[in-house]
Parts: sequence; structure tokens; C-alpha cells
Amino acid sequence: MADYNKLLEEIVQEIKPIIGEGKVAGYIPALAKIDPQKFGVTISTINGNTFSIGDVNEKFSVQSISKVFTLTLAFSKLGEEIWSRVGREPSGNAFNSLVQLEYERGIPRNPFINAGAIVITDILISLLDDPYAELLDFIRLLSGSEDIRYDAKVAQSERENGFTNAALVNFLKSHHNIKNDVEKVLDVYFHHCSITMTTNELSKSFLYLSNHGCIPKSKHNILTKSQAKRINALMLTCGTYDEAGDFAYLVGMPGKSGVGGGIAAIIPNELSIAVWCPALNKKGNSLAGMKALELFTTKTGMSIF
Ligand code: GLU
Repeated sequence: MADYNKLLEEIVQEIKPIIGEGKVAGYIPALAKIDPQKFGVTISTINGNTFSIGDVNEKFSVQSISKVFTLTLAFSKLGEEIWSRVGREPSGNAFNSLVQLEYERGIPRNPFINAGAIVITDILISLLDDPYAELLDFIRLLSGSEDIRYDAKVAQSERENGFTNAALVNFLKSHHNIKNDVEKVLDVYFHHCSITMTTNELSKSFLYLSNHGCIPKSKHNILTKSQAKRINALMLTCGTYDEAGDFAYLVGMPGKSGVGGGIAAIIPNELSIAVWCPALNKKGNSLAGMKALELFTTKTGMSIF
């Protein structure tokens, strides 16, 4: 069994100088106050080991990483039918872009840009009796932690400033790609983005994606093998905004980032890894987090390629 403790220490030493470099997401005021010096990494292996370093027990806003959970839940319930309402191509545009949605007539490029994630949220509202509670229960199941909650302040802060998301949902509605009330869709969307987790919880919650759709510890089947492959393919091509090409090039793992500064990524049959450092690069990915993942795959020689 690999002992990743020494490796994590080495990685931290090397990236120390850049921790805090970049900018904390300022467009959600509740996130702008987070200390940019925070940094944590957790590795969870499918055979049950955990290795971690730094601020790994501190909750942070997972933001867009939650889109992996909503997509998984919708995909597990509805299967291929979801692709009639959202595409599977990288967007090459900013995550909250309106332009592309207009010329593609209300079918978002992929489920990880905001417009696509909003459509997935709408699908879940139609499928679930209580989307707020059922989504939390689902993430509790994935992470093995009961302590998964919404951050009401962050959801509220986003609601008060979410004019672009409001424009997206209204535009989607005008193209009949939103079935529920737009206010309800936005509220569920902002809530799932506000979920707080630690890197320990986040890395555990991604293990089903390294293990062909099955949670290794509980043996709970979340997705079929083929569906897990497809979610990983989407993370690789669309999971890190319009930096997915560079992420594949530099890191070489399927991963999903969020503007809270978290990134979760996996190596099939081996492990999942979650990093958190709130200061973001120009594309909206954690600057030090991305470097830490790059060092991880470079030093271990592991990657999906
Ligand atoms: N809640 C954020 C938004 O809709 C998510 C952004 C992100 O993490 O990519 O703008």
C-alpha cells in the first residue's frame, strides 16, 4: 500500500509560496470573506485509507462541485433521457455565459456550466418530492458523513446577487427547457451550490467515481459502470470551466472545481483526492489547488493516460 503522507508533505512544501496567490471569488459576497491562506488536501483510497494534510476538517463552500452530485442523482434516476435537455460538449466559454445559450436555442452545452446545472436542478425538482432534503441525504450517503448541510447565508448571498443565473433560468424557460417555477429552480440551485464540506468528506464522496459507480465501503451501487465512466468523461472534458484542456494536460485526472476553491478528482480503481485553497486563478479554479494536483500526478506518475 502506498503511503501518501510523505508525498503530501513534499507537495505542501513546494506550493507554500503560492498559497494565497490569486483572488477569492468576489461576486458572491459571502465567499469574499474567506481567508485565502487556507489550504487542505485529502486522499481517500478505494481500499479504505485516508491521507490528509492542512485544513482538512474545515468546511468550505463546494459550489460547482455539487453539480457532480446533482448530475449523478438525475442520471441514476432518468438515464440517457437527460441528454435531450443538455449537451455533452465542452463549452470553451465562461461558466455563466449567456451568449452560447442564445445561439444554441436554450440547450446548454454541458451539465457543468451554470445553464446546464440549472436544467439538471429542474429535472431533479420534477423527480423528487423534497429536493432539498433528498439531495442532502444523497450526499450524506456518498460521503458517509451525516454532517452535510446547506449554508443559508451563502445561498442568500447568491440569491441577492445572482442576476446572471436569473437571466439564464429565464432564458431557458423561454425555450421551454425549464418545467418548474423559475424562482424555485434558482432557490434549489443556489442551495445546492451553498453546501459545505471538508476535503475529508469531499474526497470520500467522490470514491464511487473511482470505483465504477459503487461506494467501496458500503457497497452501495450509485451508478452503473458505464454511467460512472460517462460522468468521469464529462468531468475530464467539462469539469474545470474553460480550463478543462489545461487541467487534462497538466493534471490528467477527471475532476470538478468550484469557485469556493475546492477541486475533487479521481484515479479509476485507485483513489479520489480533494484539495481546497480559496484563491482562484483567472479561469476560476483554485490556483494552488490545481498546482497541488499537478504535483500529485507528476510525482506519483499516476494519471488516467
Ligand atoms: N453558485 C455559483 C454560480 O452559480 C457556482 C459557480 C461555480 O462554482 O462554478 O455562479
